[in-house]
Amino acid sequence: VSFVLSRMAACGGTCKNKVTVSKPVWDFLSKETPARLARLREEHHVAILIDGETSDIYVLQLSPQGPPPAPPNGLYLARKALKGLLKEAEKELKKAQRQGELMGCLALGGGGEHPELHRPAPPPLRAAPLLPPGARGIPPPPPPIPPPLPPRLREEAEEQESTCPICLGEIQNAKTLEKCRHSFCEGCITRALQVKKACPMCGRFYGQLVGNQPQNGRMLVSKDATLLLPSYEKYGTIVIQYVFPPGVQGAEHPNPGVRYPGTTRVAYLPDCPEGNKVLTLFRKAFDQRLTFTIGTSMTTGRPNVITWNDIHHKTSCTGGPQLCDTLS
Ligand SMILES: [Zn+2]
Ligand SMILES: [Zn+2]
Repeated sequence: VSFVLSRMAACGGTCKNKVTVSKPVWDFLSKETPARLARLREEHHVAILIDGETSDIYVLQLSPQGPPPAPPNGLYLARKALKGLLKEAEKELKKAQRQGELMGCLALGGGGEHPELHRPAPPPLRAAPLLPPGARGIPPPPPPIPPPLPPRLREEAEEQESTCPICLGEIQNAKTLEKCRHSFCEGCITRALQVKKACPMCGRFYGQLVGNQPQNGRMLVSKDATLLLPSYEKYGTIVIQYVFPPGVQGAEHPNPGVRYPGTTRVAYLPDCPEGNKVLTLFRKAFDQRLTFTIGTSMTTGRPNVITWNDIHHKTSCTGGPQLCDTLS
């Protein structure tokens, strides 16, 4: 049961301990102001590790560390603090980049070089080392007093709106997420969503929560007080009947246009509080078309049939004590 519950949580919930960040921002933060990161780690007793990456982004994972007691919402606070820090770093990085461009223009005339502004981003740190207490980050070079912006630069400032928060370049093939209206390069956001199905800016969930289970199936639930499941003899049994008529595969299926046979499946749950909780989850999964899919049967090898979609059900009432037998 806990397997099923955790599985449902994994597909429905958001990752409470993950943060997505563009590589330049993370490199900037961990290289230029490591002291701030170290302070965050100390204050919140967390470790920050790089859990995954694409060519443009890192997925950071927070995990509790060090002396208890950590408050129950410690990770939440740490994540919030980290997001704040990343946002600041992003602003500073953009500022530094703009200064770099400015310097570049001046350097063309005077020949003066500002190597620290032109150096490519440093190689990513796998996990930024903890600084000894009292160590301080190297402060970024002091900003020159900005002259009044010439028209070209003022335009650039306005163009900030069209800056992709992932690659920090100008947005190529703008793609705007429909719920939060944040915009990115199409390529950048596509890759980011492959790693984590959430907006990299605001964390809004964009997961595909609808499966391709045939639309016209039915889930019938009845209770049988006389049917007793092993280890749950104190309770009756919930009988779930899934009924699908035959049909033709749609565009979302492996072989569009090919017929599949109908099927009837029966699954059992003990009629105890826990079983009823699982029943609610099963119903949710069914409504989201996640319980079944069309594919090749694992037991018969037959293609183009309705099969269980990896949400485990108990399909025999005489089996072992577990709820999670799989049959397909
Ligand atoms: Zn981009
Ligand atoms: Zn967003």
